[in-house]
Amino acid sequence: MGLTIRDDFMSMMQDELSGISGAVFATGCMDRRLTKIFESIMESKPGSTIIRTAGGFLNCSEAAVEQLVRDYDTGIVTSHRGCGAAKVVVGAEKDRGQVPTDVFEQVVNPFAMKGCTSNMQVEGNSPEMQKDFIERIAAQHDLGKKNIIMRCMDTPTPLSERPAVTELVITTPLKSRYSELPGVNPNDDTKYYLHNDLSSMKCDIWIAVTAIKVSSIQPISQSKAENDMMVRFTESLKNDPDIQRFGVRVNPPRLSDVGIKIGIPQRPSVGQRDRSRL
Ligand SMILES: [Zn+2]
Repeated sequence: MGLTIRDDFMSMMQDELSGISGAVFATGCMDRRLTKIFESIMESKPGSTIIRTAGGFLNCSEAAVEQLVRDYDTGIVTSHRGCGAAKVVVGAEKDRGQVPTDVFEQVVNPFAMKGCTSNMQVEGNSPEMQKDFIERIAAQHDLGKKNIIMRCMDTPTPLSERPAVTELVITTPLKSRYSELPGVNPNDDTKYYLHNDLSSMKCDIWIAVTAIKVSSIQPISQSKAENDMMVRFTESLKNDPDIQRFGVRVNPPRLSDVGIKIGIPQRPSVGQRDRSRL
């Protein structure tokens, strides 16, 4: 059985979106159970941008958030129940010595200061904290008032049904291309998906590997220029003791076939057709 978000939530989200004119930005967790939500936002609001982080936390994604508030007036910020990243935040507060300093200060501390000591409190408070953060960045850069919609979503599948082996696909945001990226497949149960600024990515990756115990990381580059950056980032991950102590394999970046929508079978190129006849 596929992992799906409830239909009633999907129709509620569609109602909400139909009342908004123009494109939006949406933020949320990398949990694959939420992929259908973000796919549906991209379909009904072309030109929107999605940022997916570990837990949907934005506190360490300042550059990405600044770009979002420059580009859009409306944002949808989400959290979800049964979030592995929320569990990491709760655990990290109790065991500070194990947590990299930037993760502790930027992600864990804001929840600790709000007195969140359980998963439910972290998940419940998260949208409001992300909203505050977005509004603070908007004010700092004098970008006007933003319309921020907050949602905490139910994720019905028990965590015990998660597959043991998962791959973490990491990419940087590229407007309008979200649903065309390799790895964004709502029916793919083996991949989690991080989609954030490279400068914020390490924080997210640490939380993700701690929460999910992924066995490999697959960086995806969306252009040749980005590929050079991704190569450097990949090398830094391979040498990073915070990441490496989890024994995660970091694969070389793959240049994506931008423009190919996942889920629709690709027509083989002429060369491939020729080869298959041999
Ligand atoms: Zn989550």
